[in-house]
Amino acid sequence: MTNTKTVVILAGEGIGPEVIAEARRILDWLVAHLDLPITAREALYGTEAFRRAGKIVPDETMAALEGADAILFGATGGPDYDALPAEARRAGNLLRIRRHLDLYANLRPIQALPALHAASSLKSRVLEGVDFVIVRELSGGLYFGEPRGIETLPDGERRGVNTHLYTASQIRRVARFAFELARTRGRRVCSVDKANVMEAGAFWREEVSAVQRAEFADVALTHMLVDNCAMQLVRAPAQFDVLLTDNMFGDILSDAAAMITGSLGMLPSASIGPARADGRRAALYEPVHGSAPDIAGRGIANPLGAILSLAMALRWSLDAPQAADRLEEAVRAALATDVRTRDIMHEGGRLVGTGEMGSAVLAALETP
Ligand code: NAD
Repeated sequence: MTNTKTVVILAGEGIGPEVIAEARRILDWLVAHLDLPITAREALYGTEAFRRAGKIVPDETMAALEGADAILFGATGGPDYDALPAEARRAGNLLRIRRHLDLYANLRPIQALPALHAASSLKSRVLEGVDFVIVRELSGGLYFGEPRGIETLPDGERRGVNTHLYTASQIRRVARFAFELARTRGRRVCSVDKANVMEAGAFWREEVSAVQRAEFADVALTHMLVDNCAMQLVRAPAQFDVLLTDNMFGDILSDAAAMITGSLGMLPSASIGPARADGRRAALYEPVHGSAPDIAGRGIANPLGAILSLAMALRWSLDAPQAADRLEEAVRAALATDVRTRDIMHEGGRLVGTGEMGSAVLAALETP
């Protein structure tokens, strides 16, 4: 019996469809040439879905996502999306998908490829040997805590409120994820918090330490205050192996870390849910960047974040780790030919558009 895996693709808005088209071409090539038992289908999401089906996430799409082995997502947001009724956005969007599938662990691998050192804002000697993964908690913290809102007090003063809230089980499950991941790498976890001024930060530190003591004595754990971590990421990023953060700190630190790779357009990510009864985990793979309305529709977006997200899906959800290795190698080989989208352009590079960058990766795949 063949165990065919299913990928559901949501292109989204802005540059989402442009970068996803390249990832799709590559997926189709890999399936055909490596004989992978994977079927892929696209489903409606976003402004297009709202226009056609009256919902940002139509019921049919949500059903497809529930049954998928992997979801490949482009990007969401931008002026058309912002013009949708607030009610429609509340009823269902990317955040709702993450919540519905309980995607609690967000992985963002950060590697400084030598071919892209020139594109980074950091010096080459700082980038030497950088290879770490940010594990960001994605289902709790400041972005979800209640109470939240903007209110007017009896004396007429207005105030805005968000609540940084984590339960022990939310912290423990993402900490376990980070420790398990560290076991497959350098066995070092650095946990980030603001324990010196936030009670919830001190609690985060206590719980992460408790998990390490009880279950992961073979993994080294250190703690770092978030302000120091922001500084260390640009001072000496090679010191990190697995960086464990809450939801908001991870959001901010990973955009800063993107500059190590040369561009936000290079960064892939995976968002993983709990193991289901059959052992499978819901998982959504997407480039870290957004819909980039400033360059959408011009065919100049870098598709490598989306393509590397596909490589993560092949490795984590689609039982095709060799195809993932081969694809990552093809991306390195394509960059070695000096093709560059505008965001990673350097002196002497050959400027290409989104489609040509996808073709360069395909050409590298085709070269034995
Ligand atoms: P952004 O990531 O879309 O863009 C930031 C900058 O990086 C822009 O100058 C853009 O041109 C550039 N950039 C991003 N991706 C690139 C690529 N692949 N190639 C070349 N350059 C690239 O962030 P933003 O401008 O803050 O947000 C735009 C919209 O995207 C907003 O509506 C925001 O809510 C949304 N957003 C969505 C996601 C997501 O879909 N998961 C993530 C972040 C932001």
